[in-house]
Amino acid sequence: MKRILVTGGAGFVGSHLCERLLNEGNDVICMDNYFTGQKKNILHLLDNPYFELVRHDVTTPFFVEVDEIFNLACPASPVHYQYNPIKTVKTSVMGAINMLGLAKRIKAKVLQASTSEVYGDPEVHPQVESYWGHVNPIGQRSCYDEGKRCAETLFMNYHQQNNVRIKIIRIFNTYGPRMHPADGRVVSNFIVQALQGQDITIYGNGMQTRSFQYVDDLIEGMIRLMNTGDDFTGPVNVGNPGEFTMIELAEKVIKLTGAKSKLIYKPLPSDDPMQRKPDITLAKKVLNWEPKVNLDEGLIRTIEYFKTIV
Ligand code: NAD
Ligand code: UDP
Repeated sequence: MKRILVTGGAGFVGSHLCERLLNEGNDVICMDNYFTGQKKNILHLLDNPYFELVRHDVTTPFFVEVDEIFNLACPASPVHYQYNPIKTVKTSVMGAINMLGLAKRIKAKVLQASTSEVYGDPEVHPQVESYWGHVNPIGQRSCYDEGKRCAETLFMNYHQQNNVRIKIIRIFNTYGPRMHPADGRVVSNFIVQALQGQDITIYGNGMQTRSFQYVDDLIEGMIRLMNTGDDFTGPVNVGNPGEFTMIELAEKVIKLTGAKSKLIYKPLPSDDPMQRKPDITLAKKVLNWEPKVNLDEGLIRTIEYFKTIV
């Protein structure tokens, strides 16, 4: 039995990860400050004696003895990470330093939940890990993008300087049950709007693209990455290469919910990337991983979940 720390474990992705790790017979410590996470997400795990919940902020040091650390603590939705941008930078950077310091002391393996946002508004399409990105360092998204980029730097530095065993996963847009209904991300917004009979808000002309990955596929990729040999650090892209415009996504949501919603157009937020699609050649080769759930199937499962909460 491994003892595993999941920071941000009460969030959308973290709750699925805790559940999967417990199902595989591990002892799981879930640490969260509940900024965007909710106890509701992990209520069903609380009866398990191998699950421990700790209220803690990752920007302050944390002392625990574990074999592995998954560092997910950080708001992920633009609305939330822009709410207090200084705190977002602190969470990424000081959180990384604290988790890396912990990993160094206890000789644990540590995985960083990085993001496709490190590529910014990309000029290389699809995005490969060797692409350095196109990020505005002083824009609205920079607290998140640059925070996550600096965290990657710290992970590499701790690996090279202190031999810490690290893994960096670059996660592309992920959706599924337990996304917060007021989270502001596009999949949850469109589904909630459709189920409530409201119009669907398209930002800009709706021709920008994203690649949407169902959460179960991501969790599989994360666990496979953690289990790779110590010589493989990543970064590795994990995402679904299917690429859709926001109008295509809205049309799918309308069709699958049977809603009568119309599309309404709102201004495009600044620095909103025009296109995004992962090159997953490396994940296929090293992790023997590729996504299994297509967008229609994943949306159906997600819509079923949202029907129970909105
Ligand atoms: P989320 O907002 O649902 O989860 C983040 C969790 O971290 C929440 O439970 C929140 O309360 C917690 N948290 C935030 N600041 C904290 C702090 N200072 N101390 C302790 N806990 C803190 O978001 P998510 O979608 O589950 O994302 C999880 C991770 O995956 C994040 O690091 C995010 O950057 C990364 N990621 C997610 C996506 C995606 O599409 N979901 C894409 C790329 C990267
Ligand atoms: N978006 C939209 N309507 C919404 C919410 C988002 O058209 O109600 C757009 C947003 O401008 C972006 C895309 O959907 O182009 C994905 O946004 P999200 O916040 O989900 O993720 P990110 O931009 O971080 O990839």
